[in-house]
Amino acid sequence: MNTHEIINEEKIHQLINEGKATTKEEVLEIIEKARECHGLSLEEAASLLMNEDEEVFNSLLEAARYVKDEIYGKRVVIFAPLYTSNECTNNCLYCGFRVANKHLHRKTLNTDETVKEAKRIVEQGHKRLLLVCGEDQRKTHIDHITAALEAIYKETDIRRINVNAAPMEVEDFKKLKAVGIGTYQIFQETYHRETYKKMHPSGSKSDYDYRLTAIERAFEAGIDDLGIGVLLGLYDYRFDVLATLMHSQYMDEKFHVGPHTISIPRLRPAMDSALKEVPHEVSDKDFKKIVAIYRLTLPYTGIILSTREPAALRDELLNLGVSQVSAGSKTNPGGYGESDEEAAQFETSDERSLGEMLRVICDQGYLPSFCTACYRANRTGEAFMNLAKEAEIHEFCQSNAILTFKEHLLDYGDEETREKGNKLIEKSLKEINNEKLYQLTLERLKEIEEGKRDLFF
Ligand code: SAM
Ligand code: SF4
Repeated sequence: MNTHEIINEEKIHQLINEGKATTKEEVLEIIEKARECHGLSLEEAASLLMNEDEEVFNSLLEAARYVKDEIYGKRVVIFAPLYTSNECTNNCLYCGFRVANKHLHRKTLNTDETVKEAKRIVEQGHKRLLLVCGEDQRKTHIDHITAALEAIYKETDIRRINVNAAPMEVEDFKKLKAVGIGTYQIFQETYHRETYKKMHPSGSKSDYDYRLTAIERAFEAGIDDLGIGVLLGLYDYRFDVLATLMHSQYMDEKFHVGPHTISIPRLRPAMDSALKEVPHEVSDKDFKKIVAIYRLTLPYTGIILSTREPAALRDELLNLGVSQVSAGSKTNPGGYGESDEEAAQFETSDERSLGEMLRVICDQGYLPSFCTACYRANRTGEAFMNLAKEAEIHEFCQSNAILTFKEHLLDYGDEETREKGNKLIEKSLKEINNEKLYQLTLERLKEIEEGKRDLFF
């Protein structure tokens, strides 16, 4: 397969040049068009990316807020990462787990330890996990990952496990599918080949094409919820954001389903990182712009924000289009039991607990959701996208968010969170316009109060 057909660097440079030439009036028209919630072309996204005008910036953010509200309402999905291993044979210059870091305390959890860790996460009140590990064929092979998924589903109250792991062969993806993976996430880090080569000097990750084509193999194996992204800071974000959108467009054309999620990791300091400074610093302002452009270009794609970002910025980004956030995260294996800074992948920035995070989300008028319904009702891939585009999903989602948040408050909420949460639930119920769904939601809420669990539409 010619991977230059997926990411055509020449075309990206051409888009950048044409984007620069777009006038302010034209860009403002593009933003107006984006408010119709049908997405934007690569050319239009490039014009937004290349514009530095302050008025354009403000209307871009305003439009992103509008589209986020139209498509997602006030919901924010909550998850936590679970690191099963920090052992890795790759040498990504920016990562604390890289093989050349001789100071890191290396650890791979066995299945029992992984379940223990998952239980600690459940005790905080989470229902969704992102399983993460380094790449070491002796330690984090496919059986390590599938055993973890099987055991967590069987022995804990976790209802959906997404996985962020090294690219693999179709046969191994099939195994992941068989044990009930949610989304398979893989970040290209940078789509710029020359930079990619410099950043990944050795190990299997140095093969750009094998990484790029992981999405094809996962899809071939039947995994149709796929997540992509770049590590912001490695190369010029304008190039990498456009390349991410190009990859997304390619997926949409080839598989009839674009990425389920886009993640927006921004480079953080890491122990023994070989990068003494961020090669292409992305300012907070540019970061907001990136989130807004993703939201306008791909209105139905989830945008995932981790605790790499500081609290105040995270709160602001909720408004601009982020639809999933992690909370209370640890990036070292076993970290929810005992914290070991010397075993972490990178420094997190938002250290707030899940409870604190939920209260902030409520204060902002957002509705935390622990929903895992779509995946369990087989609404994945194309089926999910079709529903999402018809906006029906929006109605179910609001109800499911209310139901799962109510469960959370009853089972894990402290007094303060319950008070804020219950008020928000009252308000959110009123936003359900479909009378039948409203009545059904009230009935299910009552059942939850009476002790039933895991009710969803
Ligand atoms: N090892 C697998 C891989 O590289 O694909 C999967 C998990 S890796 C632990 C998850 C992601 O962490 C990477 O894809 C990278 O984008 C991100 N990451 C690595 N070092 C980072 C750093 N210093 N700051 C922020 N994110 C980082
Ligand atoms: Fe290993 Fe992934 Fe870190 Fe690279 S980013 S060193 S592959 S854990």
